[in-house]
Amino acid sequence: MNFKKRDLARRYALTEGRHCVYGVMHGYYIHVRYTPVGNPRCLVTVVTDVSEKQKKLEKYLEASKQKLNIANFGVVKIGLMVCPKFTREVFARAEDIIGKIAAFLAKEGFAGADVCPYCGQPLEGKGILATESDIPFAVHEACFARALAGARRKDAEKAALPDKKALGALGGVLGALFGGAVCVLTYAWWGFGALGAAVGALFSYYLYRKFGGKSTAFAVAFCGAASLLFSLAALAFGVYMDGRAAGGFAQALSSAFAGGKGTAVLCADLACTLLLAGGGTAYNAASCRRERRTAADGMRRLEG
Ligand SMILES: [Zn+2]
Repeated sequence: MNFKKRDLARRYALTEGRHCVYGVMHGYYIHVRYTPVGNPRCLVTVVTDVSEKQKKLEKYLEASKQKLNIANFGVVKIGLMVCPKFTREVFARAEDIIGKIAAFLAKEGFAGADVCPYCGQPLEGKGILATESDIPFAVHEACFARALAGARRKDAEKAALPDKKALGALGGVLGALFGGAVCVLTYAWWGFGALGAAVGALFSYYLYRKFGGKSTAFAVAFCGAASLLFSLAALAFGVYMDGRAAGGFAQALSSAFAGGKGTAVLCADLACTLLLAGGGTAYNAASCRRERRTAADGMRRLEG
């Protein structure tokens, strides 16, 4: 029987969210987020005032990667995050990891749930429950207000950066062109070029942002359209090359659609091209939504 999210919540009187479980465990605010198709799939956070002890904590986590069975970790001012290695028993693993980390933190004198991680001072029962990066923990009201104002200021600075649409579009076209080239090559090798449509959509959006364009609905749509265009052009080019001997493009097209196995493969290639360009664009849209969420969006006052 799997040890589920609900089991972990019950055992430690934690709160269950849609994809997460959080609360105080072994004296520390913890948060376990699990999304089967997420990246990372599972993220375990332990909140503590790290302050000057960051190096020590990083050293411990680096040295304990094997023992904790974690793939990755990060340490920030108000705590640490670890990604457990792939496992089916996510919540049993999380319980084990948190137990070990909390024991280390307690032994080394890291502040627990009764101390505000923003200022390192005791809460003395006067804290409020608030979130940062959607992770709930107790803080001083004034400290939270200060942190929120700081996050808003940084978000505003980021929002004020120019959106270099023209350069971004150039990057997007280059990425889509690369996808088109992949279509042509794979069509020449395997007689099937659809894969390039996905490559084009993803690479196009990647370069769009690398070239200074911002994550916007326009960017997603532009890159989707560009990659689709180049993929279809590549497919048409492949058909033309196949039928070149027969004469012009019209002859090539009519022989390609004359029926039989070749036509079926071509129709499948066309359908897959549309599907993969759409899939890549859907993936880009999801990244865009994630990136547009600001730091302040993840900071909410829950209660207190
Ligand atoms: Zn404080």
